[in-house]
Amino acid sequence: MIIGIVRESFPGERRVALIPASVPALTKAGFEVLVEPGAGAPAGYPDESYQQKGASLAGSRDEVFSRADVLFHVLGFGANPEAGRDDLPRYRPEQVVFGFLRPLGAPEAVAELARTGVTAFSIELLPRITRAQRMDALSSMSTVAGYKAVLMAADALPRMFPMLMTAAGTISPARVLVVGVGVAGLQAIATAKRLGAVVSAYDIRPAVKEQVQSLGARFVELPLETTQAEDVGGYARAQGEEFYRKQRELMARAVAESDVVITTANVPGRKAPVLITGEMVAGMNPGSVIVDMAAERGGNCALTRAGQTVSVHGVTILGAVNLASLVPFHASQMYSSNLTTLLLHMARDGRLNIDTDDEITRETLVARGGEVVHPRVLEALG
Ligand code: NAD
Repeated sequence: MIIGIVRESFPGERRVALIPASVPALTKAGFEVLVEPGAGAPAGYPDESYQQKGASLAGSRDEVFSRADVLFHVLGFGANPEAGRDDLPRYRPEQVVFGFLRPLGAPEAVAELARTGVTAFSIELLPRITRAQRMDALSSMSTVAGYKAVLMAADALPRMFPMLMTAAGTISPARVLVVGVGVAGLQAIATAKRLGAVVSAYDIRPAVKEQVQSLGARFVELPLETTQAEDVGGYARAQGEEFYRKQRELMARAVAESDVVITTANVPGRKAPVLITGEMVAGMNPGSVIVDMAAERGGNCALTRAGQTVSVHGVTILGAVNLASLVPFHASQMYSSNLTTLLLHMARDGRLNIDTDDEITRETLVARGGEVVHPRVLEALG
């Protein structure tokens, strides 16, 4: 079987779905890899490096679509509904497609993709079980994004992060607050610590307190009561508006005392909770920075504009979107490793064995035989 790698078409996207280092594992398992010219260039992987590892170079994008049995995308159609539309007529019914497809955010796009007849796997739906950890691209991308968010904050901040004792006086360290301590939040804490900031963090799930402390940060205790902060999957549960109102009130002081606030709070399948109001922003010192990593889901800050940087009351608010794409070399390396592991999990003698008795296969399979087949996507379609 031929695995096709095409250049990503989402505007500004720099990642590539497979890097040269992953090619030998696939060829050893009996697959061939066919790459569109220039596919890896924006991420720092030239065409020759693919060929050196045993991949072939196609003459064009059309050639990859017409010859490949399997297509690897980073942002597939649902996650790239405008530019990705150009590829819809190129898919062939017997093809298998892997990528981020935004199946619950854009279920209609998945339905449209299904109508091309392809078999599609959505990487976001990978079950977060121990066995699937090496395939967990969502965690990989959150790790990269959490790191980048801190660098962006440091860049926008008119202060330095570390404490310095110099002949010209003492520089006080930046105070960083991380709200939401999932995968991205943990990496944001670690990165801010490495840069020398004094870091504190809050999450609605009390279980993360130990993880925050083990990174050398302070866990902000808020006297908020919830018996059901976490679901069985380890995700936060949605709370009522009264809870969020109280949380904002209690968090206001921690926000006002911070030079940088990184927000990552999400509740699966919901709009992100608003945890920072305009009034709270007004209470921050001029020059402070908020990086809102929940921007794509509506934002944790009421003033956030997704994909934009706004300045209000002297506070810079970055509506961070698609941050992993801004560190394309390593984001691609991690994604490529995740996807290769997923494909090899399904591979038998150089072919794909789609066994829906297997949890990983069943949970990621969204389209087959011209139809949407995933119950959660069908439910989202209504
Ligand atoms: P996420 O992106 O869904 O949410 C980010 C964080 O926001 C979460 O920690 C959540 O608790 C927090 N949050 C939600 N509402 C909040 C509020 N009102 N105030 C403050 N914080 C709020 O989370 P994620 O990064 O995808 O990770 C979620 C969980 O899944 C974590 O426990 C993580 O360790 C776990 N996980 C497990 C695996 C695995 O076992 N393979 C892999 C990845 C993640």
